[in-house]
Amino acid sequence: MPPREGELPVVPDPAPMVDGFGRRIEYLRISVTDKCNLRCVYCMPLEGLPWLKRDQLLSYEEIRRIVAAMAPMGLRRIRITGGEPLVRRDLPDLVAMLSAIPGIEDLALTTNAVLLGDQAEALRDAGLTRVNVSLDSLRPERVDAIARRPDSFPRIMDGLDAAERMGFQPLKVNVVLMRGHNDDEIHDFAAITRDRPWHVRFIEVMPTTANLDISANQFVSCREALDRVRELGQLEPVEGPAGNGPATYYRFPGAPGTVGVITPMSHNFCDRCNRLRLTADGQLRPCLFGELQTDLRALLRAGKPLEPAIRETLRIKPERHDLVPGSDAGSGGLVALSQTGG
Ligand code: SAM
Ligand code: SF4
Repeated sequence: MPPREGELPVVPDPAPMVDGFGRRIEYLRISVTDKCNLRCVYCMPLEGLPWLKRDQLLSYEEIRRIVAAMAPMGLRRIRITGGEPLVRRDLPDLVAMLSAIPGIEDLALTTNAVLLGDQAEALRDAGLTRVNVSLDSLRPERVDAIARRPDSFPRIMDGLDAAERMGFQPLKVNVVLMRGHNDDEIHDFAAITRDRPWHVRFIEVMPTTANLDISANQFVSCREALDRVRELGQLEPVEGPAGNGPATYYRFPGAPGTVGVITPMSHNFCDRCNRLRLTADGQLRPCLFGELQTDLRALLRAGKPLEPAIRETLRIKPERHDLVPGSDAGSGGLVALSQTGG
């Protein structure tokens, strides 16, 4: 029976999206732009990259149609990323469009937070539930040196304040570790979790063509990070906050926040992978790395059905990535994570 006026259509029983290795996929990371207002040393070259042209980008309506096709197949959670997603105009409009799709239970954003202070309220009102903020140092001059854009630090702090005021929870803070840049701040970051309900996640840097020097010579393992954190006190393993991704979490007894580690290099977690990725130009990727992708934009623009292509992308999802420390051999020609939505 068709829905009555004003009633949402009933979501059909999900035919779960399961890949060739039996992994249940219910999470889509959507990159809305390849552009960024920062130039983090481990991510984007200082001179930028050859940007996508406007007509290559998916429109918000095209993104909505892709999500609307995947929700009845079992898609439940979405993260908007980039590039820097907040540099794309009118992002709250997209958030409102996606949060209205039946079946979507969780809609989160990964951002460098430079523009979050201005947009947090509109994003919350549009239906955003959570944010992850990238913050690689607690020292203003270091943030500017890593991000290679002056005056980023106060704006990022404004963004974090706004995120807390808007009640985005859990609030996750991503820290990419680099020897000589921020490895002496592991204590400081961990100590914050004793005072604030932040979930600080240390991330091992992954090699891409643009960062080979850093990934070869400044790599810090999360095992080392955890050893340093334990110098501050005993840690207990805990269930992570909502949004079960690849991180493993710990807590100082009684602390409001947690310390997480994301170990793509030292401990491969691909067996738990639960996601697909949609690039800003409409390529559905089964893995962050490698060359496999399906051109959903071409299908959409030709008026063809999406579901067979989505199922085929699931079928070819690789068992694991083949990253090689300090080499771009396994990254499938990826210059920077900003190109696929890290
Ligand atoms: N611009 C947003 C931001 O920085 O949060 C979203 C896009 S960014 C590509 C997503 C995440 O990937 C950030 O937490 C960033 O620190 C991380 N990242 C980027 N390049 C990385 C690399 N080579 N290795 C590990 N993490 C990386
Ligand atoms: Fe931009 Fe995020 Fe890459 Fe930094 S990590 S350059 S903020 S896309």
